[in-house]
Amino acid sequence: MFQKCGFADATSELKDADYVVVGLPFDSTASFRSGSREGPEAIRIASFNFESYDRYYDVDLADLNICDLGNMELGADPTYAKENIKEGIALLPEGVIPIFLGGEHSITPSIVEAIAGPGDLGVLVLDAHLDLRDEYGYTRFSHACASRRILEIGGVEAYVSIGIRSGSMEEFSFAADNQISCFTSREVQEKGIDQILDLALKKLDCERLYLSIDLDALDPAYAPAVGNPEPFGLTSWDVKRVIERVASRAVGLDINELTPAYDRGETALLAARLAREFVAAKAKHSKRDR
Ligand code: MN
Ligand code: MN
Repeated sequence: MFQKCGFADATSELKDADYVVVGLPFDSTASFRSGSREGPEAIRIASFNFESYDRYYDVDLADLNICDLGNMELGADPTYAKENIKEGIALLPEGVIPIFLGGEHSITPSIVEAIAGPGDLGVLVLDAHLDLRDEYGYTRFSHACASRRILEIGGVEAYVSIGIRSGSMEEFSFAADNQISCFTSREVQEKGIDQILDLALKKLDCERLYLSIDLDALDPAYAPAVGNPEPFGLTSWDVKRVIERVASRAVGLDINELTPAYDRGETALLAARLAREFVAAKAKHSKRDR
């Protein structure tokens, strides 16, 4: 009779969970539109729009063990948030697949650091922006530095970004000088997402892959409510395809940069749908492996 709040179909306890939803409401390095700390709640509310059954994957999310842990308490200081994210992740049971709801993109390096472990972990970032600044607004933990910090964890071999169409001249030089794999949205437009994914996944020759979706990778036509909207982006079909192709080896996902105050609901709906896509795609694979 009473519905538990949180992400739709997340009715499991942590001890039984195969998937955990974690909100990371941090947004104090926002450089244009702020308010992404309201993102996790907006995504949770939007998640109730959808059927629990996913026809394409033939998976019913109501049959899966999903737990919504709620939001981490992250405050406003980037170094405090970083330590809390790492401590929080350390408490997750081994083997559980986390889905992190941002918050701004500055949450991702801490997540990657926490789950990298001794084995090789590849990181695939979808983003309009290079995020390769060494420092921005007097902090190295700004969302404008997200990819730079991720690269410092696993090196250039373990990193690919797709959807790029914005950065400073220095960032583009840094990317070229360090042979960083960053595929532009123009390349996706010209060659198709599958061909770009072939190249990206060949480069990320790893068993464990982490997917970070900065929602501004999508064209503002699909995802208008983001911190730094940038035209000429990916389509929702492109991102669906990325999720489908990486799900089998994905060990986690984050969806970041949603700013609900600028939304009429469509960006939150897409974010929620992408999270559900990810769970359904993963569940389909584990069903097949069984
Ligand atoms: Mn970003
Ligand atoms: Mn971005």
